[in-house]
Amino acid sequence: MSNSKQEKQFVKEITPQSEDFSRWYIDTIKKADLMSYSPVRGCIVFKPDGYEIWEHIQKELDARFKETGHRNAYFPMFIPESFFQKEKEHVEGFNPELPWVTEAGGEKLEERLAIRPTSETMIGHMYSEWINSYRDLPLLINQWANVVRWEKRTQPFLRTSEFLWQEGHTAHENEEDARKETMQMLEIYRDFVENFLAIPVIMGQKTPSEKFAGAVDTYSIEAMMKDGKAVQAGTSHYMGTNFAVAFDIKYLDRENQHQYCHTTSWGVSTRLIGALIMVHGDDRGLALPPKVAPTQVVMIPIGPPKTRDQVVGRVNELYDQLKKAGVRVKVDDRPDQSPGWKFNEYEMRGVPVRVELGPRDMENGQVVLVSRITGEKRIVAQDQFTEEVQKLLTETQQEMYDRAKRFRDEHMTEADSVDELKSFFEQKRGFALSGWCGSETCEAHVKEETGATSRNIPFEPGTNKTKCLVCGSDAKHTVVFGRAY
Ligand code: AMP
Repeated sequence: MSNSKQEKQFVKEITPQSEDFSRWYIDTIKKADLMSYSPVRGCIVFKPDGYEIWEHIQKELDARFKETGHRNAYFPMFIPESFFQKEKEHVEGFNPELPWVTEAGGEKLEERLAIRPTSETMIGHMYSEWINSYRDLPLLINQWANVVRWEKRTQPFLRTSEFLWQEGHTAHENEEDARKETMQMLEIYRDFVENFLAIPVIMGQKTPSEKFAGAVDTYSIEAMMKDGKAVQAGTSHYMGTNFAVAFDIKYLDRENQHQYCHTTSWGVSTRLIGALIMVHGDDRGLALPPKVAPTQVVMIPIGPPKTRDQVVGRVNELYDQLKKAGVRVKVDDRPDQSPGWKFNEYEMRGVPVRVELGPRDMENGQVVLVSRITGEKRIVAQDQFTEEVQKLLTETQQEMYDRAKRFRDEHMTEADSVDELKSFFEQKRGFALSGWCGSETCEAHVKEETGATSRNIPFEPGTNKTKCLVCGSDAKHTVVFGRAY
């Protein structure tokens, strides 16, 4: 495609966040070239830079899953209809979102096949064949896959009809072991999202009305976007014996007695990419934490044509050093684009560090580093180049987390009545902590009146509310309320 045609496809300007956050989000994604809308409703195409973010997420999480004893497997994406009938809550929860295959090879199928929205049923069926004795337990499996949920409202990355994810499915001898696993995986998600994606999260338990269809308990990590809205960034479920009973997942215990397994499942999806964009991006476009950025450093030679070859030669030497040190670095020495154009381009694409080298820097044996997030310029000695770049990348990762955490903390409030909560959401952005008596009616009332849902019951709310914000009776829990994507 010609350059001019490509540029026309780009939005001219990025709408400021304060003017229209949704518009800003779409502009940013398009400018950074992360995805394209597809001809199929609600389904997106992950372009190379978008997909590479997912690859880094995969690689890092996969290592953490394996460190904790899990192995990957792959199960079919087609699920016989009868499987869905086996767990009542599960079918009720997922039925409205299921696409069905009714015909294949020119013939009508005897039994409809659903395209998986999640794989508890298929995996439950297989586990009942694979598990016989306590010696087979725990069974710790993860699958990297695509799933389909025919969503009514969609938004790139955050909520799509087909999405990519991982789903862990484990079976254990007893409740204690299964609950330990549920919490271990939630903690892995927290650590990963905070330390790799630089997104602070609130860990807690979902209220019964928000839990996974078929689970006994659902736990989540919740993140705050820059418009104050919530994104559920990951979930971990304790299923009790619900799926074991439905799919007959039994084992012979040490006393030769048949017992049902206790199972868990846990997942994160390409929604995390949407969260990354909305937590770190600014009016100049995308901003990516170094650990997950496809390109961590871009090097731009500057100066007049007569010194060009010399400068480019030095840039390439420095490039080799960084590459050897394992940094994801790229050189942009295209002569037909000005340095200023390139600076904008890579800021918009969220590259964490820019390196500039010109003739004067050559003379002085120095090089200029510029941070995407703070705009700070650092002049460093060329013989310290690799160390200084690595230092700036580490600092940038931390700075991005600190900024996101500061923003989150500044946008937390407490609300003791529905009126207070309502006026908070009308005038401000963020999350509110409130007391809740535990009744679904009160929870539904909050949603109706304010449009906010309970995000979770935080493990560490930082405050203990004593009265329910709706009915005023004793609070059982302190809940985080927020408007969610
Ligand atoms: P669940 O199986 O419902 O617990 O969801 C597992 C993970 O997938 C969670 O992190 C959800 O936030 C995420 N997720 C659920 N629905 C979608 C969707 N339509 N698009 C992208 N991610 C999703």
